Amino acid sequence: MCGACGTTHHTWYDRKRRRVRDIACADYRIYLDVEVRRVACRQCGTVKRERLDFLVENALHTKRFARYVGRRCRAGTI
Ligand SMILES: [Zn+2]
Repeated sequence: MCGACGTTHHTWYDRKRRRVRDIACADYRIYLDVEVRRVACRQCGTVKRERLDFLVENALHTKRFARYVGRRCRAGTI
């Protein structure tokens, strides 16, 4: 699925593995190794990254990690 317009595709342009930060488990930092594909979207007329619902826009960390950091920022000191 195109990350910009949401058009569904059955093939992809290229793919690569990314290391994505997730919520820590005890004192251990957790990184997910995910494969992110790009699609040659006809609607957009260019190559776009696929949409993955559990990642934020920049795909460097998961949505639940972003929510966790947001909660910590609201309650904690600098
Ligand atoms: Zn598109």
